[in-house]
Amino acid sequence: MNLVELHRLLILAGAALLLVACVTEQAALPVRIDGVTMGTTYSIQLHELPAGIESDQLQNQLEELLVDITQQMSTYHPDSEITRFNQIHSTDWFEVSLEFAHLVAIAQQLSELSQGAFDITVGPLVELWGFGTRINAQRPTDAKIQKLMSSIGYGQLEWRHQPAALRKRAGDLQLDVSAIAKGYGVDVLAEYLTGLGVANYLVEIGGELRAAGINPGGEVWQIGILQPDTGTALANRVLALDNQAVATSGDYHNFYVENGRYYSHIIDPRTGYPVKHQTTSVTVVAASATEADAWATTLLVLGEEQGLQLAEQHAVAALFLIRQAGPGFRLVASSNMPDIVDEQ
Ligand code: ADP
Ligand code: MG
Repeated sequence: MNLVELHRLLILAGAALLLVACVTEQAALPVRIDGVTMGTTYSIQLHELPAGIESDQLQNQLEELLVDITQQMSTYHPDSEITRFNQIHSTDWFEVSLEFAHLVAIAQQLSELSQGAFDITVGPLVELWGFGTRINAQRPTDAKIQKLMSSIGYGQLEWRHQPAALRKRAGDLQLDVSAIAKGYGVDVLAEYLTGLGVANYLVEIGGELRAAGINPGGEVWQIGILQPDTGTALANRVLALDNQAVATSGDYHNFYVENGRYYSHIIDPRTGYPVKHQTTSVTVVAASATEADAWATTLLVLGEEQGLQLAEQHAVAALFLIRQAGPGFRLVASSNMPDIVDEQ
């Protein structure tokens, strides 16, 4: 197996953790809940537990929500809604949960805005290139790629809300919502905590985060940004999240190298091939983690030039990291991207 999982562009709550460490003498120890979900890890930080709930109880409630999402949207789950939808060849309406239909609606909107750069019908290509449920890191033949292209395209997928259902216009259409699911999971957990009356929290799944209120140090949550190649802090910069979410899509999360060529798990659905440009990651700040996650993948497919243009057009806050000949990366931000400040 030559699939290599490299460092994620870890957007970790590093700075927040430091601040937490500084305030433990005056303030109560923050509550931290960790676990695994969606093939990655999750973490929650709160100042204190909601009244009458123990940490274990809260964790069970949060994990139940994550299990619900997996049963709706995980292609790794043999009996999930998405797996069953992928298996049918019928072009009739297929009933799904309202949540799944809603997520598909958001994805379809992004596909339209990006004219197909973001496309959850990319599934068969993800599988063909060996980045799906079956790992076969081997470059497929051009003929195989071309053959699959006829079954790709968000225009072949319909959704409706009442009753919630999806419909294939082409029988072999397959969905893959990996590019948006973690962000969605973060929002579900965040909104649940808000519903419990928790005002201050940081929720994270696999590096996608959403913050509410302030950190235990009394400031808005601050997120340390680590560099993809070394995992060290990106010039010690921190990003302040004022009731916002942040997500990163990187071409180095999952890739393989064959005959000296690098193949990323981010596929351009318009060509059928993995993206090849020099943008290595895109970080997006948005009101919800679902939006941030979907936009990050979209802008990574588009790359610096087209991506920046689309981000400006829709007032999206995005930071592009671009490989350069020398060491390190070039950083390009859209006008709405909050300043990343130097950590003292
Ligand atoms: P990660 O899952 O590494 O955090 P992303 O959020 O960018 O990164 O999601 C990448 C996943 O999305 C891929 O592994 C693949 O399953 C799927 N994908 C690949 N290309 C596209 C695309 N153009 N549009 C939508 N989903 C995609
Ligand atoms: Mg994404």
